[in-house]
Amino acid sequence: MFLGPPGAGKGTQAVRLARARHLAHLSTGDLLRAAVAEGTPLGRAADAHIRAGRLVPDDLVLGALRERIGRSDARAGFVLDGFPRTLAQARALDAMAELDAVVSFELPEPVLLERLAGRRICPKCGAVYHVSASPPREPGRCDRDGVELRQRPDDRPEAVSVRLRVYAEQTEPVLAYYRERGLLRPLDASGSTDEVARRLNALLEGE
Ligand code: ADP
Ligand code: AMP
Repeated sequence: MFLGPPGAGKGTQAVRLARARHLAHLSTGDLLRAAVAEGTPLGRAADAHIRAGRLVPDDLVLGALRERIGRSDARAGFVLDGFPRTLAQARALDAMAELDAVVSFELPEPVLLERLAGRRICPKCGAVYHVSASPPREPGRCDRDGVELRQRPDDRPEAVSVRLRVYAEQTEPVLAYYRERGLLRPLDASGSTDEVARRLNALLEGE
């Protein structure tokens, strides 16, 4: 499980780790964005919350995650990214999955803001870029499918300040929940993507 503030690099590392260890990558943010793009009832209910930087209500997120965990590719193991974000979600997860490790991505706020401001995503495949740290080969276009990259609406400054406040108020208690259970492993999320991946692998070695 990867916990940590928005922009800390959880999704970037989750994609790499899942690929390297043949795990499913379960991101509630990705699930919700796909639902919004498809215009499903879940997407219609979630859209305004996401745009404003607020959390989507627990019952909706839990329903989506339960369905995703039940799919066959998750049976051999998964990386959870962006979930749980509330204590209620953490408690509900206890009945759904057994955790090997909980990694807490740690990064100073100015660096988070820089990563969020430069993030661009492919609206088609969800690939994540950064305008300077991890740019696409052709400026503004996805390497995989050539589609024009976009800024996420919740990466605009108004929503970012809400998301950081929501993180401090609603998600930091989740860190304490896993710390008390002896599962929490802090990770220094600064430096290049390769450096963080090396640190993460070293940390998971003992698991
Ligand atoms: P999160 O999933 O925690 O919100 P992301 O993985 O989407 O964070 O990363 C946020 C932004 O920072 C993206 O634009 C990504 O390309 C960039 N990024 C991720 N890891 C690093 C890193 N180690 N150094 C610089 N930029 C990074
Ligand atoms: P992320 O892609 O993880 O940054 O999530 C983007 C947005 O989706 C968040 O700001 C929330 O609005 C929503 N979201 C993602 N995961 C959750 C979750 N576990 N609980 C509630 N809302 C979530």
